[in-house]
Amino acid sequence: MAIATTSPVTGEVLRSFDELTPEELEDKLARAAAAAASYRLTSVEERAECLHHAADRLEKEIESVGRMITSEMGKTFRAAEQEVVKCVHGLRFYAAEGPAYLRDLEADAGRVGAKQTFVTYQPIGVVLAVMPWNLPLWQAMRFAAPALMAGNVGLLKHASNVPQCALYLEELFREAGFPDDVFQTLLISARRVEQVLRDPRVAAATLTGSEPAGRSVATIAGDEIKKVVLELGGSDPFIVMPSTDLERATDVAVTARCLNNGQSCINGKRFFVHRDISDAFIEMFVAKMGALVVGDPMDEDTDVGPLATESGRREVFGPVAQIWTVGSLEEALREANGHPYGLGSNLWSEDEAEREMFVRDIQSGMAFINGNTTSFPEIPFGGVKRSGYGRELSDLGMREFMNAKTVWVGQDA
Ligand code: NAP
Repeated sequence: MAIATTSPVTGEVLRSFDELTPEELEDKLARAAAAAASYRLTSVEERAECLHHAADRLEKEIESVGRMITSEMGKTFRAAEQEVVKCVHGLRFYAAEGPAYLRDLEADAGRVGAKQTFVTYQPIGVVLAVMPWNLPLWQAMRFAAPALMAGNVGLLKHASNVPQCALYLEELFREAGFPDDVFQTLLISARRVEQVLRDPRVAAATLTGSEPAGRSVATIAGDEIKKVVLELGGSDPFIVMPSTDLERATDVAVTARCLNNGQSCINGKRFFVHRDISDAFIEMFVAKMGALVVGDPMDEDTDVGPLATESGRREVFGPVAQIWTVGSLEEALREANGHPYGLGSNLWSEDEAEREMFVRDIQSGMAFINGNTTSFPEIPFGGVKRSGYGRELSDLGMREFMNAKTVWVGQDA
């Protein structure tokens, strides 16, 4: 795939970029390794200050960055601005909470015959992030903010259709005061990911994207015995039970399906509706879907813009909903769990027993009740089954790429 900004509205190639030459890639890898050696020794306070600077600058550029996102992948400008705001929050969150997440964890020394024993969290070095285009700033930011706070060095291989967002992120972190080469963007095609991941200077990888891409990266990482976090596809169930407020549930169902022009891994994609309310649900849902304004993503009245690329037409990675009628929550769960993916999930019910059953039995990494599935820096994000493994965000996401080093100190002589 050529590395270029192609307007999702007109199909016109707006800007093209050259791929890195082999020599340029080697130079970037060498720089990343050198940066890792010194960056790991910086204090958490210094890192937090740089994250705050990045947040301050991004906050001033919400409009221009929002325009760039819309021009590259076609989400509405309104949604693009919200994505940038979320990134600002993510940067500030890790600047504020990172120091606490990085504190040593004392254990009971007496039980292991030590004078002192604790776990200390240390960075693991250079981490490769392979990221998708659908939330071009936020997907990369939710890797970058915790990684940089942890003292790791980032290499970003972004999707080939969002090169300007990719380059902007490198510039943002550099201008924020992070030392040179602590965060670099690699303009390379997907086939060169293998070379980077096999490079001994690269310690680990995280990939958000499709199942085939995840399989490929996991296979290489397995061969190299390197840590990898995978955030892959979702086919999230959205279950609606009779006790719910249908007005609210259908409002959120439409958002759940059409957010990001229907191109989010955590969009509600399969709707399981109890038969007692299915006619009413379908009537309201169809009416509300029909009322959405499809059009120019820059227009503030537009709800749904164009799909990002031509290939979107062949997938359910777009605003297309499937509705099943079910007779019970057990049946809904059985159907929902019959799918190989297990990313997010959604239940609409006022019944406490149903909520408990849903939390206990749904096979997903995330279970949202009476609200749309979304990501927050404060709580973990990730999936099970073929949706991948590992967690992003919160303290768990930060620690995925850290060495939890056990320290045991014997009694003094
Ligand atoms: P994709 O083809 O897998 O692309 C994602 C990234 O992986 C891009 O940077 C791509 O580079 C790269 N890539 C593609 N094939 C690769 C390979 N064999 N080895 C290494 N890297 C490879 O995904 P997409 O279809 O564009 O993006 C949408 C997908 O992402 C959907 O399936 C969606 O469900 C998933 N997604 C998941 C999450 C989550 O958190 N679970 C979030 C968002 C999206 P190029 O662009 O150069 O091909």
